[in-house]
This record gives sequence, structure tokens and C-alpha cells, in this order.
Amino acid sequence: MSALSVPILLDLWERGLVQQPFEWAMALLSSAYPGLGEQELFNLSIGQRNTYLLTLREWAFGTKLACQVSCPRCQKLLEMTLNTNDLKVSTNIEHNPVLLLERDEYELRFRLPNSRDLALITGINDIPLARQQILAACLLEAWYKKQPCSIEALPTELVQAMIEQMEQADPQADMQFDLACPACQHQWETSFDMVSFFWREIDRWARQTLRDIHTLAAAYGWHEAEILRLSPLRRQLYLNMVNQ
Ligand SMILES: [Zn+2]
Repeated sequence: MSALSVPILLDLWERGLVQQPFEWAMALLSSAYPGLGEQELFNLSIGQRNTYLLTLREWAFGTKLACQVSCPRCQKLLEMTLNTNDLKVSTNIEHNPVLLLERDEYELRFRLPNSRDLALITGINDIPLARQQILAACLLEAWYKKQPCSIEALPTELVQAMIEQMEQADPQADMQFDLACPACQHQWETSFDMVSFFWREIDRWARQTLRDIHTLAAAYGWHEAEILRLSPLRRQLYLNMVNQ
């Protein structure tokens, strides 16, 4: 992984304002991991992509994740701090594994969802339809009694088994954790959305950085590039002096 400079992160943030979340994640990883080609990045399973993003997030903001979640029963806002290690699943999955499922004379060969599949469902707000599109893209071959069949012809239980097999093969794709509400004692499981969490952090950081640049530029007449060349410590010390 190469360390990203502040100007590069600001550029990625600015581009991210008009990108789909998966596109922004790809652009970010492409800058941080120049050794991975575009094809390879888009072909990473969602879990593998999340692993790279977690590592990058640790580099950018550390291992603590400040989260806010509303209790689904009493709506109380819960604030908690997770650690990136709480979300990491120790798994070493091979690149683009082909999964097999044989049941009731059906035979399926399929792969794990990747960012190319997320691109496919851009603009589709109907969740069951989006899911169907992803499954259809991941299904490489389906046979019933040795005859080819389509995804529409598969029984619901078989499709569910296919999804479960995908989840088991790529556990980092859906990072779940248990929660308990101190107000109403409700317990539930929720998913951690790596991309939107990281995006919100970068967005907050970028807007604060621009405010700091504005403050220093107004006070000293320096250009943006000059201010960004200051070490974080010196930038903060000058900000303290301006704000005294
Ligand atoms: Zn509650």
C-alpha cells in the first residue's frame, strides 16, 4: 500500500462527490494500491475489497471507529466505539473462487459478487430486482437433470442456499455485529457498511481541511498548495495562533 498525500485524498474526495459509492471505493483503492490493475480491483470479491478498505482506513484514521446506531425498537441513538479488529474476519479466500452447489438434481456453478456487479445495479432502487441481477451475473452455469436451466427456474430454497454459500465463502462482505440497547434491552444484529462509513469520515475530514486552508489563506495570504505542504503539527500551530 502506498501512503496517500493530503492533496490526493482531497482530489479523491472531490471526485467522490459525484461518484457512486463503489466507484469512489475503487478510485481510492486504485490510488492506494497502484500494483493492483483496474480489472483486478473490480474483480475483488466484496469481502476482499472490504479488507483492503479496512487496512486503508486504519492508515488514514486509526483502528477506532466511532459509530452511531438508532435502536430499531425505541429509536434511542446509541453511540459506540468499534475497533477495526472487531470487524476483521480471519480468512484467506482465493481470487475468484468458483463455488459448486448440488442439490435435488440441480447443479450450480457460481462465483462471488464483486464491484463489477455493483456497477451493474447502479440506479436500480428495487432491492429484490438488484439482488436478482447480481445473482444472475454470478451464476456461471445451472443444470437441472443434466439440462441447462435459467436462474428464474431455480427454486427459492436453492437460490437461498446459493446466497448462504456466498456469505460463508466471503464473510468479510457483510460485517455484522451484535448490539444491545441500554434503554429498552432490545438485542439485534446489524451490518457495518464499510464504504459509506469511510466516505462519511473522508467527507468530514475534507471539509474541515478546506476550512483550515481558508482560515490560513485569509490570515497569511498563503496558497492552498503551500498550506498543504505544512506538516500537520505546524498547520495546527498556525491555526491556533490565528484563532487566539
Ligand atoms: Zn431501545
